[in-house]
Amino acid sequence: MADFPNSARVVIIGGGAVGASCLYHLAKAGWTDCLLLEKNELTAGSTWHAAGNVPTFSSSWSIMNMQRYSAQLYRGLGAEVDYPMNYHVTGSLRLGHTAERLLEFKRVVGMGRYQGMDLDILAPDQIRDRYPFLETHDLTGALYDPYDGDIDPAQLTQALAKGARAMGARIERFCPVTAARREGGEWVLTTPKGDVRCEIVVNAGGYYAAEVGRMFGRRVPMMVMSHQYLLFDTIPELESWSKTAGHKLPLLRDVDSSYYLRQEKFGFNLGPYENPCRAHWATPDDPMPEDFSFQLFPDDLDRLERVPLLAEASLQKVINGPIPYTPDGNPLIGPMPGVPNAFEACVFTFGICQAGGAGKVLAEWVTEGATEWDMWSCDPRRFTGWEDHDYCVQKGMEVYGHEYAIHFPHHVWPEGRMKRLSPVHDRTAALGAQFGPYNGWERALWYARPGDDTSEAAQRTWARQGPWAAAVAEECAAVRDAAGILDLPGFSRFRLSGPGAADWLARQTTGKLPAEGRVGLCYFADDKGRIITEMSAARLGPDQFWLITAATAQLHDRDWLDRHLAPGLTLADESADWAVQILTGPQSRSILGAVAEADLAKPWLTWQPAQIAGADVILMRVSFAGELGWEIHSRNADTPAIWDAVMAAGQGHGLRPFGMFALNSLRVEKGYRAWKGDLSTDYTILQGGLERFVDWSKPDFRGRAALAAEKQAGISKRFVTLKIAAGAFDPPYMSTLWHDGHVVGEVTSAEWGHRVGACIGLGMLRADLAVPGCVVEVEIFGVRHRAVVQPDAPLWDAGNARLRG
Ligand SMILES: Cc1cc2nc3c(=O)[nH]c(=O)nc-3n(C[C@H](O)[C@H](O)[C@H](O)COP(=O)(O)OP(=O)(O)OC[C@H]3O[C@@H](n4cnc5c(N)ncnc54)[C@H](O)[C@@H]3O)c2cc1C
Repeated sequence: MADFPNSARVVIIGGGAVGASCLYHLAKAGWTDCLLLEKNELTAGSTWHAAGNVPTFSSSWSIMNMQRYSAQLYRGLGAEVDYPMNYHVTGSLRLGHTAERLLEFKRVVGMGRYQGMDLDILAPDQIRDRYPFLETHDLTGALYDPYDGDIDPAQLTQALAKGARAMGARIERFCPVTAARREGGEWVLTTPKGDVRCEIVVNAGGYYAAEVGRMFGRRVPMMVMSHQYLLFDTIPELESWSKTAGHKLPLLRDVDSSYYLRQEKFGFNLGPYENPCRAHWATPDDPMPEDFSFQLFPDDLDRLERVPLLAEASLQKVINGPIPYTPDGNPLIGPMPGVPNAFEACVFTFGICQAGGAGKVLAEWVTEGATEWDMWSCDPRRFTGWEDHDYCVQKGMEVYGHEYAIHFPHHVWPEGRMKRLSPVHDRTAALGAQFGPYNGWERALWYARPGDDTSEAAQRTWARQGPWAAAVAEECAAVRDAAGILDLPGFSRFRLSGPGAADWLARQTTGKLPAEGRVGLCYFADDKGRIITEMSAARLGPDQFWLITAATAQLHDRDWLDRHLAPGLTLADESADWAVQILTGPQSRSILGAVAEADLAKPWLTWQPAQIAGADVILMRVSFAGELGWEIHSRNADTPAIWDAVMAAGQGHGLRPFGMFALNSLRVEKGYRAWKGDLSTDYTILQGGLERFVDWSKPDFRGRAALAAEKQAGISKRFVTLKIAAGAFDPPYMSTLWHDGHVVGEVTSAEWGHRVGACIGLGMLRADLAVPGCVVEVEIFGVRHRAVVQPDAPLWDAGNARLRG
């Protein structure tokens, strides 16, 4: 076909707001040999019927970053590309009905301020100044977001497309991609207009993303919901107010009643997130049509009986369209797992307000292989492949039905549970374990005692003193004074082997490798010196290692290792084959000595084969809890007998099972970092306070040049441990640090430390203030609390004497 572009460096499949933004941002980065293929007309998917709200609000740092960037981009885009758009920055009010909701708002105000946005809390009597038509007697307050507004989604897409074209990128409409194959290191995409060859492909297929993914052998974890909004006729009172005021009402989100209300001309647009809600195309008798372009679902007003406002106004039109959901409600932006030179930017639930930021992030992934902001919350690799269709449907419906719900730090959502169980699950459950999923694996969070409140409702609190608090205190005391056992299913585990494995691993990690028979912590940096991941390495032979890492990191870390793996080396994922128990506390040697045939005098950071209850195990002398202890690694089938033997031996030694809540408290007291909280690509190895894990004598390792340059230039911020005079709440993730009236850092983890009797924060602080004794303030739900920088050593057992004991 004449003029048909048969090749491009990058092909984007899908021309909604997100695909167009990807094209625009790639072109802006100088990658103009890019082509967008759209099966119908631009915007034919979810984009054409979206309401077009553009909030900046999010309780997630990275999502807020994306949305803030989008709003900024949209303000200047029309002028930049000469495509005027209807973008009304009206501001918005989020109404709070409860004290807990107001705390959520205060937290988000703090995060927003750190991102340069002045969000504000309004008292009930101030709300009507901004929104006169409101009944406020039962409200606790509101959050005012001056940057919120609405945009015409089709115009936004066309503007991005126009900008991209002007820079040299191309768009081919009415050109569905029907198949993909790999040929000579390139992708060849089949379309009715001809084949297209490309180096890199991006799935921006919106609610068709699963169909597009299948062409690449990839199962995209998603489902499709129907979502609707209702347009009401002109309301004379609103018309006269608006004409007098000269502007529209701010957008209203009544989050505790789960709907938004936006002024549309002189009427309203009402968008509910209903519960019960409806999944679409989720069963064999309701297959997804091959082409649903520019179509809607039938109205479904039965679902709306809970929205009282409906009784008042006269309904003009209902827009009910498909909206895709991942199991956690965040989109997929990043490398397509297991597929070379392929990326995803799809399954957006808020794809209009996120399109701008998503395009930036996707373009960085493609052009640089890394993103400016840590984007783990949207990384496709956070799902590891076990998430089946039923799970996706259950979770998608749960997220939709609670779209505006508060995400409390200790709350566990109930749907899609009990999918992956430890070999001793029934035993821990019988002891009172209250579970939470980690990469689907149910782990004990805490052990309820008789009479403890284990209801889901009781978990919905920001307060430290939840119903688990007393039990967790006892669990920590047992670990400190006697012994505790923690069942840890789902550890990710890779066996690295082959000639030259040690040399290769040394080039991938910043520090020294452990000697044979020993275990060590290894840090992986990217080329910019930023923290990619942390793994425990057990050296099994000269060129053989077990690399053990977080459950949630399974696909991320495997992908990182695979991408860089040298020819001749093998990496086997043994995660599913093994179970782990942490046995720790001063009595752990006596307990283990009673059941294990092993040399328990071997020092800290060693491993050894041993036998317990007649089964082979590997004992590793390490403890994330910071006490004398061993990890018992056993085959799944052997694990129940091993558990029983250890528990029986623990009788009389004060052995007690403990859960993840206690572990979190214990590890913070030791200053041990958590992946994707304290350890993320937002920080370099040096900022993260990990220089003792850098072996500068190695001539070459990934990130070395960047880290050496940073060291010479001076480190801008540093990891610190803080003792915080907190009240009833520990600071949530990304609580800001203040000094002398300026924001100077952030808290990345905080917990009550039961052994040291204080609230402890781990975080990042401006380097000149990161000195022991320096006094700063932590903003916790809008109130600043005194915090003191601690010496650069663990707060509990600074010399590690107990670990070595
Ligand atoms: C009623 C409703 C209201 C909404 N309101 C808002 C809102 O106020 N704010 C907000 O942020 N979000 C809102 N959303 C969500 C928003 O519409 C989506 O998140 C967004 O449009 C997703 O954009 P996208 O580019 O990822 O996907 P889409 O717009 O669905 O684009 C995907 C494109 O891929 C194309 N395609 C698929 N398969 C192929 C193929 N094989 N070959 C070529 N092309 C292909 C499709 O034709 C389609 O054009 C709303 C959704 C609904 C249903």
